[in-house]
Amino acid sequence: MEYRRCGSSGILLPEISLGLWHNFGDVDSFDESRRMILFAFENGICHFDLANNYGPPPGAAEINFGKILKHDLSAHRDEMFIASKAGHRMWPGVYGDGSSRKNLIASCDASLWRTGLEYFDVFYSHRYDGVTPVEETMQALIDIVRSGKALYAGISKYPPEEQKMAYKILREAKVPCLVSQYRASMFDTKSINLNFGIADENGSGIVCFSPLAQGLLTDKYLEGIPAGSRVARESGFLQMSQVSPERVEAARRLNEIAGRRGESLAGMAINWLLADRRVTSVIVGASSVEQLKANIGSLNQKGFTSEELDCISRIASQ
Ligand code: NDP
Repeated sequence: MEYRRCGSSGILLPEISLGLWHNFGDVDSFDESRRMILFAFENGICHFDLANNYGPPPGAAEINFGKILKHDLSAHRDEMFIASKAGHRMWPGVYGDGSSRKNLIASCDASLWRTGLEYFDVFYSHRYDGVTPVEETMQALIDIVRSGKALYAGISKYPPEEQKMAYKILREAKVPCLVSQYRASMFDTKSINLNFGIADENGSGIVCFSPLAQGLLTDKYLEGIPAGSRVARESGFLQMSQVSPERVEAARRLNEIAGRRGESLAGMAINWLLADRRVTSVIVGASSVEQLKANIGSLNQKGFTSEELDCISRIASQ
Protein backbone atom coordinates (compact mmCIF):
# COMPACT_ATOMS: atom_id res chain seq x y z
CA MET A 1 0.00 0.00 0.00
CA GLU A 2 1.17 3.49 -0.85
CA TYR A 3 0.21 6.42 1.37
CA ARG A 4 -0.53 9.99 0.33
CA ARG A 5 -0.38 13.18 2.32
CA CYS A 6 -3.84 14.49 3.12
CA GLY A 7 -3.84 18.07 1.83
CA SER A 8 -1.34 20.21 3.69
CA SER A 9 -1.68 18.26 6.95
CA GLY A 10 0.71 15.88 8.66
CA ILE A 11 -1.60 12.92 7.99
CA LEU A 12 -0.91 10.14 5.50
CA LEU A 13 -3.80 8.04 4.22
CA PRO A 14 -3.69 4.82 2.19
CA GLU A 15 -4.51 5.15 -1.50
CA ILE A 16 -7.44 2.80 -0.88
CA SER A 17 -9.68 3.19 2.17
CA LEU A 18 -12.60 1.01 3.22
CA GLY A 19 -16.13 2.37 3.57
CA LEU A 20 -18.82 0.73 5.69
CA TRP A 21 -21.94 2.20 4.09
CA HIS A 22 -23.09 -1.20 2.80
CA ASN A 23 -22.29 -4.77 3.91
CA PHE A 24 -21.59 -4.08 7.61
CA GLY A 25 -25.18 -3.89 8.86
CA ASP A 26 -27.25 -6.40 10.78
CA VAL A 27 -28.64 -7.84 7.53
CA ASP A 28 -25.10 -8.82 6.50
CA SER A 29 -22.80 -11.63 7.52
CA PHE A 30 -20.88 -10.51 10.59
CA ASP A 31 -18.14 -13.06 9.86
CA GLU A 32 -17.55 -11.67 6.36
CA SER A 33 -17.62 -8.10 7.70
CA ARG A 34 -14.99 -9.10 10.24
CA ARG A 35 -12.86 -10.84 7.61
CA MET A 36 -12.98 -7.75 5.40
CA ILE A 37 -11.93 -5.38 8.19
CA LEU A 38 -9.06 -7.65 9.21
CA PHE A 39 -7.97 -8.27 5.62
CA ALA A 40 -8.04 -4.53 4.95
CA PHE A 41 -5.99 -3.70 8.04
CA GLU A 42 -3.46 -6.45 7.40
CA ASN A 43 -3.00 -5.11 3.89
CA GLY A 44 -2.34 -1.50 4.82
CA ILE A 45 -5.86 -0.09 4.68
CA CYS A 46 -5.78 1.69 8.00
CA HIS A 47 -8.49 4.24 7.11
CA PHE A 48 -12.08 3.21 7.81
CA ASP A 49 -15.00 5.40 6.84
CA LEU A 50 -18.17 5.25 8.94
CA ALA A 51 -21.23 7.41 9.53
CA ASN A 52 -23.93 7.42 12.19
CA ASN A 53 -26.58 6.13 9.77
CA TYR A 54 -24.69 3.26 8.09
CA GLY A 55 -26.46 -0.06 8.55
CA PRO A 56 -29.16 -1.16 8.20
CA PRO A 57 -30.54 -0.44 10.67
CA PRO A 58 -28.87 2.98 11.10
CA GLY A 59 -26.08 2.67 13.65
CA ALA A 60 -25.46 -1.04 13.02
CA ALA A 61 -22.23 -0.54 11.04
CA GLU A 62 -20.72 1.43 13.91
CA ILE A 63 -21.81 -1.20 16.43
CA ASN A 64 -20.43 -4.07 14.33
CA PHE A 65 -17.19 -2.19 13.64
CA GLY A 66 -16.90 -1.52 17.39
CA LYS A 67 -17.25 -5.24 18.17
CA ILE A 68 -14.52 -6.15 15.68
CA LEU A 69 -12.30 -3.40 16.98
CA LYS A 70 -12.71 -4.52 20.58
CA HIS A 71 -12.24 -8.20 19.83
CA ASP A 72 -9.45 -8.09 17.24
CA LEU A 73 -7.83 -4.71 16.91
CA SER A 74 -7.89 -2.96 20.26
CA ALA A 75 -4.11 -3.07 20.49
CA HIS A 76 -3.85 -1.26 17.14
CA ARG A 77 -5.92 1.89 17.72
CA ASP A 78 -2.92 4.16 17.12
CA GLU A 79 -2.33 2.53 13.73
CA MET A 80 -5.88 3.20 12.56
CA PHE A 81 -7.58 6.29 11.15
CA ILE A 82 -11.29 6.12 11.85
CA ALA A 83 -13.87 8.54 10.49
CA SER A 84 -17.51 9.14 11.26
CA LYS A 85 -20.09 11.68 10.16
CA ALA A 86 -23.43 13.21 11.01
CA GLY A 87 -25.95 15.15 8.97
CA HIS A 88 -28.22 12.67 7.23
CA ARG A 89 -31.41 11.23 8.70
CA MET A 90 -30.53 8.95 11.61
CA TRP A 91 -33.82 8.66 13.44
CA PRO A 92 -37.30 10.15 13.03
CA GLY A 93 -37.79 13.47 14.75
CA VAL A 94 -36.59 17.03 14.31
CA TYR A 95 -33.19 16.45 15.95
CA GLY A 96 -32.41 13.19 14.17
CA ASP A 97 -31.45 14.77 10.85
CA GLY A 98 -29.61 17.78 9.42
CA SER A 99 -26.48 19.75 10.17
CA SER A 100 -27.47 21.65 13.32
CA ARG A 101 -25.14 21.93 16.28
CA LYS A 102 -27.71 19.97 18.30
CA ASN A 103 -27.60 17.01 15.91
CA LEU A 104 -23.83 17.00 15.30
CA ILE A 105 -22.79 17.11 18.95
CA ALA A 106 -25.32 14.50 20.10
CA SER A 107 -24.57 12.31 17.11
CA CYS A 108 -20.82 12.36 17.67
CA ASP A 109 -21.37 11.24 21.28
CA ALA A 110 -23.70 8.46 20.12
CA SER A 111 -21.22 7.31 17.44
CA LEU A 112 -18.43 7.17 20.02
CA TRP A 113 -20.69 5.11 22.26
CA ARG A 114 -21.63 2.69 19.44
CA THR A 115 -18.04 2.14 18.31
CA GLY A 116 -16.64 2.12 21.84
CA LEU A 117 -14.00 4.62 20.74
CA GLU A 118 -12.66 7.44 22.88
CA TYR A 119 -12.22 9.68 19.85
CA PHE A 120 -12.61 9.73 16.07
CA ASP A 121 -9.63 10.64 13.94
CA VAL A 122 -11.86 12.77 11.78
CA PHE A 123 -15.47 13.81 12.26
CA TYR A 124 -17.37 15.10 9.23
CA SER A 125 -20.35 17.25 8.55
CA HIS A 126 -21.96 14.68 6.23
CA ARG A 127 -23.68 17.33 4.10
CA TYR A 128 -24.69 20.94 3.82
CA ASP A 129 -28.41 20.65 4.58
CA GLY A 130 -29.46 23.80 2.74
CA VAL A 131 -30.84 25.45 5.90
CA THR A 132 -28.38 25.42 8.79
CA PRO A 133 -25.90 28.31 8.58
CA VAL A 134 -22.43 27.03 7.69
CA GLU A 135 -21.13 28.98 10.75
CA GLU A 136 -23.31 26.88 13.09
CA THR A 137 -22.20 23.55 11.62
CA MET A 138 -18.53 24.52 11.54
CA GLN A 139 -18.65 25.80 15.14
CA ALA A 140 -20.01 22.39 16.14
CA LEU A 141 -17.10 20.67 14.35
CA ILE A 142 -14.61 23.07 15.97
CA ASP A 143 -16.04 22.30 19.41
CA ILE A 144 -16.02 18.55 18.72
CA VAL A 145 -12.31 18.80 17.90
CA ARG A 146 -11.53 21.13 20.84
CA SER A 147 -13.31 18.80 23.25
CA GLY A 148 -11.11 15.91 22.11
CA LYS A 149 -13.93 13.87 20.57
CA ALA A 150 -12.23 14.07 17.18
CA LEU A 151 -8.70 14.96 16.14
CA TYR A 152 -9.65 16.62 12.84
CA ALA A 153 -12.67 18.09 11.07
CA GLY A 154 -13.95 17.19 7.60
CA ILE A 155 -16.75 18.15 5.25
CA SER A 156 -18.67 16.05 2.78
CA LYS A 157 -20.58 17.03 -0.38
CA TYR A 158 -20.50 20.78 0.32
CA PRO A 159 -21.44 22.88 -2.72
CA PRO A 160 -18.66 25.28 -3.84
CA GLU A 161 -19.81 28.44 -2.01
CA GLU A 162 -20.50 26.67 1.28
CA GLN A 163 -17.28 24.68 0.81
CA LYS A 164 -15.25 27.93 0.66
CA MET A 165 -17.07 29.34 3.69
CA ALA A 166 -16.44 26.16 5.66
CA TYR A 167 -12.69 26.24 4.94
CA LYS A 168 -12.48 29.91 5.96
CA ILE A 169 -14.33 29.43 9.26
CA LEU A 170 -12.34 26.33 10.16
CA ARG A 171 -9.02 27.93 9.19
CA GLU A 172 -9.74 31.07 11.26
CA ALA A 173 -10.52 28.88 14.27
CA LYS A 174 -7.20 27.08 13.73
CA VAL A 175 -9.02 23.79 13.14
CA PRO A 176 -8.28 23.53 9.40
CA CYS A 177 -10.40 21.19 7.32
CA LEU A 178 -8.33 18.02 7.04
CA VAL A 179 -10.33 16.36 4.33
CA SER A 180 -13.23 16.85 1.94
CA GLN A 181 -15.28 13.91 0.77
CA TYR A 182 -16.97 13.91 -2.64
CA ARG A 183 -18.56 11.34 -4.95
CA ALA A 184 -16.26 10.87 -7.91
CA SER A 185 -15.77 8.26 -10.58
CA MET A 186 -15.40 7.91 -14.33
CA PHE A 187 -19.22 8.09 -14.42
CA ASP A 188 -19.48 11.07 -12.10
CA THR A 189 -17.03 13.90 -12.67
CA LYS A 190 -19.16 16.80 -11.39
CA SER A 191 -17.30 17.31 -8.11
CA ILE A 192 -13.93 16.79 -9.80
CA ASN A 193 -14.70 19.86 -11.89
CA LEU A 194 -16.55 21.86 -9.22
CA ASN A 195 -14.97 21.09 -5.87
CA PHE A 196 -11.53 19.51 -6.19
CA GLY A 197 -9.76 22.73 -7.18
CA ILE A 198 -11.28 24.61 -4.23
CA ALA A 199 -10.25 21.87 -1.80
CA ASP A 200 -6.75 21.78 -3.21
CA GLU A 201 -6.32 25.57 -3.04
CA ASN A 202 -7.39 25.48 0.60
CA GLY A 203 -5.00 22.73 1.62
CA SER A 204 -7.74 20.16 2.22
CA GLY A 205 -7.16 16.54 1.28
CA ILE A 206 -9.72 14.93 -1.02
CA VAL A 207 -11.21 11.49 -0.58
CA CYS A 208 -13.50 10.09 -3.26
CA PHE A 209 -16.52 7.96 -2.43
CA SER A 210 -18.30 5.49 -4.71
CA PRO A 211 -15.25 5.26 -7.01
CA LEU A 212 -16.79 2.20 -8.68
CA ALA A 213 -20.19 3.92 -9.07
CA GLN A 214 -21.53 1.40 -6.52
CA GLY A 215 -20.45 -1.53 -8.70
CA LEU A 216 -21.42 -0.18 -12.15
CA LEU A 217 -17.72 0.34 -12.90
CA THR A 218 -16.92 -3.34 -12.47
CA ASP A 219 -17.72 -6.29 -14.65
CA LYS A 220 -20.57 -7.42 -12.40
CA TYR A 221 -23.55 -5.95 -14.31
CA LEU A 222 -22.28 -6.70 -17.82
CA GLU A 223 -24.38 -9.86 -18.12
CA GLY A 224 -27.44 -8.90 -16.06
CA ILE A 225 -28.16 -8.41 -12.36
CA PRO A 226 -26.41 -11.05 -10.22
CA ALA A 227 -28.19 -12.36 -7.14
CA GLY A 228 -26.83 -10.82 -3.96
CA SER A 229 -25.59 -7.69 -5.72
CA ARG A 230 -26.34 -4.21 -4.39
CA VAL A 231 -29.08 -3.77 -6.97
CA ALA A 232 -30.68 -7.12 -6.18
CA ARG A 233 -30.65 -6.58 -2.42
CA GLU A 234 -33.52 -4.83 -0.72
CA SER A 235 -31.18 -2.85 1.51
CA GLY A 236 -28.99 -1.60 -1.38
CA PHE A 237 -28.96 2.02 -2.50
CA LEU A 238 -28.19 1.21 -6.14
CA GLN A 239 -31.45 1.18 -8.07
CA MET A 240 -32.36 -1.07 -10.97
CA SER A 241 -33.05 2.07 -13.05
CA GLN A 242 -29.39 3.10 -12.68
CA VAL A 243 -28.28 -0.08 -14.46
CA SER A 244 -29.56 1.31 -17.75
CA PRO A 245 -28.66 -0.26 -21.10
CA GLU A 246 -26.56 2.86 -21.88
CA ARG A 247 -24.60 2.54 -18.64
CA VAL A 248 -24.00 -1.17 -19.19
CA GLU A 249 -22.84 -0.50 -22.74
CA ALA A 250 -20.47 2.21 -21.49
CA ALA A 251 -19.15 -0.17 -18.83
CA ARG A 252 -18.61 -2.81 -21.52
CA ARG A 253 -16.56 -0.43 -23.66
CA LEU A 254 -14.57 0.79 -20.64
CA ASN A 255 -13.98 -2.84 -19.72
CA GLU A 256 -12.38 -3.35 -23.14
CA ILE A 257 -9.99 -0.45 -22.54
CA ALA A 258 -9.16 -1.88 -19.11
CA GLY A 259 -8.49 -5.27 -20.74
CA ARG A 260 -6.05 -3.68 -23.20
CA ARG A 261 -4.28 -2.05 -20.25
CA GLY A 262 -4.04 -5.43 -18.54
CA GLU A 263 -6.33 -4.57 -15.65
CA SER A 264 -9.91 -5.05 -14.52
CA LEU A 265 -12.53 -2.35 -15.00
CA ALA A 266 -12.68 -1.86 -11.21
CA GLY A 267 -8.89 -1.52 -11.14
CA MET A 268 -8.89 1.00 -13.96
CA ALA A 269 -11.65 3.01 -12.24
CA ILE A 270 -9.56 3.23 -9.07
CA ASN A 271 -6.32 4.03 -10.87
CA TRP A 272 -8.07 6.67 -12.98
CA LEU A 273 -9.03 8.59 -9.83
CA LEU A 274 -5.62 8.14 -8.24
CA ALA A 275 -3.96 9.52 -11.38
CA ASP A 276 -5.23 12.90 -10.11
CA ARG A 277 -2.54 13.82 -7.58
CA ARG A 278 -4.99 16.06 -5.69
CA VAL A 279 -6.79 12.88 -4.58
CA THR A 280 -5.58 11.53 -1.23
CA SER A 281 -7.54 8.29 -1.18
CA VAL A 282 -10.45 6.47 -2.79
CA ILE A 283 -12.95 4.93 -0.40
CA VAL A 284 -14.10 1.63 -1.84
CA GLY A 285 -16.96 -0.52 -0.67
CA ALA A 286 -16.85 -4.31 -0.81
CA SER A 287 -19.15 -7.22 -0.12
CA SER A 288 -16.38 -9.83 0.10
CA VAL A 289 -12.71 -10.26 0.89
CA GLU A 290 -12.20 -11.35 -2.74
CA GLN A 291 -13.40 -7.95 -4.02
CA LEU A 292 -11.20 -6.11 -1.58
CA LYS A 293 -8.24 -8.27 -2.51
CA ALA A 294 -8.82 -7.63 -6.23
CA ASN A 295 -9.12 -3.90 -5.62
CA ILE A 296 -5.93 -3.67 -3.59
CA GLY A 297 -4.17 -5.83 -6.18
CA SER A 298 -5.24 -3.48 -8.94
CA LEU A 299 -3.19 -0.54 -7.69
CA ASN A 300 -0.54 0.45 -10.18
CA GLN A 301 1.33 3.60 -11.03
CA LYS A 302 1.16 3.05 -14.76
CA GLY A 303 -0.65 6.25 -15.62
CA PHE A 304 -2.85 6.85 -18.66
CA THR A 305 -1.99 8.00 -22.16
CA SER A 306 -3.86 11.08 -23.35
CA GLU A 307 -5.54 8.88 -25.94
CA GLU A 308 -6.84 6.56 -23.20
CA LEU A 309 -8.04 9.52 -21.13
CA ASP A 310 -9.91 11.02 -24.10
CA CYS A 311 -11.48 7.69 -24.92
CA ILE A 312 -12.56 7.10 -21.29
CA SER A 313 -14.06 10.55 -21.01
CA ARG A 314 -15.95 10.18 -24.30
CA ILE A 315 -17.41 6.80 -23.37
CA ALA A 316 -18.19 7.62 -19.72
CA SER A 317 -19.98 10.87 -20.52
CA GLN A 318 -22.35 9.36 -23.11
P1 NDP B 1 -17.96 1.65 -4.57
O1 NDP B 1 -18.28 2.52 -5.72
O2 NDP B 1 -16.57 1.15 -4.39
O3 NDP B 1 -18.99 0.42 -4.63
C1 NDP B 1 -18.80 -0.72 -3.84
C2 NDP B 1 -19.54 -1.91 -4.43
O4 NDP B 1 -18.99 -2.24 -5.69
C3 NDP B 1 -19.40 -3.16 -3.59
O5 NDP B 1 -20.35 -3.21 -2.56
C4 NDP B 1 -19.59 -4.24 -4.61
O6 NDP B 1 -20.97 -4.39 -4.93
C5 NDP B 1 -18.92 -3.65 -5.84
N1 NDP B 1 -17.51 -4.04 -5.96
C6 NDP B 1 -16.44 -3.59 -5.26
N2 NDP B 1 -15.31 -4.16 -5.69
C7 NDP B 1 -15.67 -5.02 -6.69
C8 NDP B 1 -14.94 -5.89 -7.52
N3 NDP B 1 -13.62 -6.00 -7.44
N4 NDP B 1 -15.64 -6.63 -8.43
C9 NDP B 1 -16.98 -6.53 -8.53
N5 NDP B 1 -17.73 -5.71 -7.76
C10 NDP B 1 -17.07 -4.96 -6.85
O7 NDP B 1 -18.25 2.41 -3.24
P2 NDP B 1 -19.54 2.66 -2.28
O8 NDP B 1 -20.66 3.20 -3.06
O9 NDP B 1 -19.74 1.43 -1.47
O10 NDP B 1 -18.96 3.80 -1.37
C11 NDP B 1 -17.76 3.57 -0.66
C12 NDP B 1 -17.79 4.30 0.66
O11 NDP B 1 -17.84 5.71 0.46
C13 NDP B 1 -18.99 4.00 1.54
O12 NDP B 1 -18.89 2.77 2.21
C14 NDP B 1 -18.95 5.17 2.48
O13 NDP B 1 -17.97 4.95 3.47
C15 NDP B 1 -18.50 6.30 1.56
N6 NDP B 1 -19.67 7.09 1.10
C16 NDP B 1 -19.80 8.37 1.55
C17 NDP B 1 -20.89 9.13 1.20
C18 NDP B 1 -21.02 10.53 1.70
O14 NDP B 1 -22.11 11.07 1.62
N7 NDP B 1 -19.97 11.13 2.21
C19 NDP B 1 -21.97 8.59 0.34
C20 NDP B 1 -21.71 7.24 -0.13
C21 NDP B 1 -20.58 6.55 0.24
P3 NDP B 1 -21.86 -5.61 -4.39
O15 NDP B 1 -22.20 -5.23 -3.00
O16 NDP B 1 -23.02 -5.59 -5.34
O17 NDP B 1 -21.03 -6.85 -4.47
